[in-house]
Amino acid sequence: MKKLIILFLLVNGLISFAQEKTFKFDSNKLLKHVEVLSSDLYEGRRTGTQGALMAKDYIVRELQKLNVEPLADTHEQPFSFTARGKQYKGINILGKISGTDVPNKYIVISAHYDHEGIKNGQIFNGADDDASGVSAMLAFAEYFKKNPPKHSVILAFFDAEELGLQGSRYYVENTIVPLESIKLNMNMDMVSRNDQNELYITGARGNEAFQNAIENQKASDDFKFLMGHDGKDGKQNWTFSSDHGSFFRKGIPFLYFGVEDHKDYHRPTDDYENIHPEFYKLAVQNIISLFVEIDSMEL
Ligand SMILES: [Zn+2]
Repeated sequence: MKKLIILFLLVNGLISFAQEKTFKFDSNKLLKHVEVLSSDLYEGRRTGTQGALMAKDYIVRELQKLNVEPLADTHEQPFSFTARGKQYKGINILGKISGTDVPNKYIVISAHYDHEGIKNGQIFNGADDDASGVSAMLAFAEYFKKNPPKHSVILAFFDAEELGLQGSRYYVENTIVPLESIKLNMNMDMVSRNDQNELYITGARGNEAFQNAIENQKASDDFKFLMGHDGKDGKQNWTFSSDHGSFFRKGIPFLYFGVEDHKDYHRPTDDYENIHPEFYKLAVQNIISLFVEIDSMEL
């Protein structure tokens, strides 16, 4: 009888371990959000255009469906700026999930929802850049519904990244929570396609705990993390290539997730049809897995 009980406990333990290791979200929805946001209807989501407003409404609606509360009174943080001699109005979207163990320390998870708009009559749909990051954040929100994080999380959908990291720059100057309570920015920008099944992480070098957490993630033929593009490996330096740069300028550690540039990068062919669905699903799984490990550390 004792042996049976031990066996029962062991099997149960194995089952719950296996369950713990899959990070559940609806992968059909993951793809669907990218397909919608990068469709012609959204006209390339250029800051201040009708298409960008539609994308903003879409994201806010999804956050409401997932019961993600706003960081401030509403989900929207409007701002204005001048870029290339032109006045723009942008809107960041900010949601909050309270942490269970360390609610007064924050991890900001981010992606930008704006893209290049229409040029010479061609729509730049920005499926990989960065509808993929936006949809990954909605997968995070879905995951957090059943698995609340230990640290508080701010889900920041930034506007006007393509016009010079404007939304994230405005955000770090107007953070709503104290700047020093933000312990990490995890920024996703282009995470849905790579011919080698590789996803880069920039920002981990020099932080042993983050490096170890990344090395602990399982690699396979279908997916692996690579660390680099941080100015130390002879490759293009991505330290300021996207919104994580605004956090880094304020001295906040960051981890940036992004694929190597591809032939459709900043071209009208960055379309939904050209993303790699299986790679993308694994990328989001693995980023959530890494988040869980980092969230369990002292930040
Ligand atoms: Zn981008």
